[in-house]
Amino acid sequence: MGLVRHRRQLNLRLPLPEPSNLLPPFPDPSASSVDTSPAISASDLESLHVLGHGNGGTVYKVRHRRTSAVYALKVVRSGSDASLRRGARREVEVLRRAAGSPNVIRCHGSFEEPCGDEAILLEYMDLGTLESVLRNYGPFGESNLANVARQVLNGLDQLHSRKIIHRDIKPSNLLVNSKMEIKIADFGVSKIMCRMLEACDSYVGTCAYMSPERFDPDSNGGSYNGYAGDVWGLGLTLLELYLGYFPFLDPGQRPDWASLVCAICFGEMPSLPELASGEFRSFVECCLQKESGKRWTVSQLLTHPFVCKDPVSGA
Ligand code: ATP
Ligand code: MG
Repeated sequence: MGLVRHRRQLNLRLPLPEPSNLLPPFPDPSASSVDTSPAISASDLESLHVLGHGNGGTVYKVRHRRTSAVYALKVVRSGSDASLRRGARREVEVLRRAAGSPNVIRCHGSFEEPCGDEAILLEYMDLGTLESVLRNYGPFGESNLANVARQVLNGLDQLHSRKIIHRDIKPSNLLVNSKMEIKIADFGVSKIMCRMLEACDSYVGTCAYMSPERFDPDSNGGSYNGYAGDVWGLGLTLLELYLGYFPFLDPGQRPDWASLVCAICFGEMPSLPELASGEFRSFVECCLQKESGKRWTVSQLLTHPFVCKDPVSGA
């Protein structure tokens, strides 16, 4: 008897996001806030509950006392640590530069808490991360994956056109709301590139989602293309959402550094079941080329048949 798994079905059929050429113009980097509404301070907000913890601090669901608007407040425990404070301020700077895409989390401002911690006020995403959606609803079907891919590509297109590399694309940094919008979040290790190709510290981000060249930049002439690293993260994310487990490890296997590096740098691309469509297979292969130069760019991927199908008819 076959094993039947009952799952709550989540329909991630999403409207096509705006083409990036219709996005608002690049924001003025000298603007005092991402949001033009009056500045919000700690005393305006009441904390409702914790949404999540990360390396940098804690994210709370908060409500504005006067307007009742709900936000997510990321509090970086930077009180006495100057480098954490710099990191939080850099994250706000990147968010400001990235503003305007429907698929990048919106920042409503930032302020210093009375205790000296840096706080970043973000739009609230009520369904949480794609990691939690995977945990709660199980693996994604291809049409939902195409919608996820399309929206993340749209967000990455905006970031890359503004010379921002995210460097930590993974299911737990992609947020979803009940309008089924997907938004790229957590810019804690992202970088604004000053030159087209720039060597940068490779070991930032989550090691499991790092592309092969980040473990061994010398294999790419001593520098790596961070834009291609984001594409790798997207490919791995889609594969994980499809399979239901991290693709470079067996289900339930505990990760260790050596086996991860071996699998990512030298292992075969994780195999997909036979029922996976040719389009999905091809899309993932275009993202997960080991040589970064062979990986498709975000603009190329936006023309791939997997994401160009009509999201309603599937044709
Ligand atoms: P890490 O570096 O460990 O990835 P972090 O400290 O940089 O984490 P985030 O990834 O930004 O923090 O957020 C931590 C968690 O808080 C997320 O995984 C998510 O569960 C929750 N969270 C963050 N931002 C939001 C938001 N805008 N809406 C809803 N939940 C959020
Ligand atoms: Mg995170």
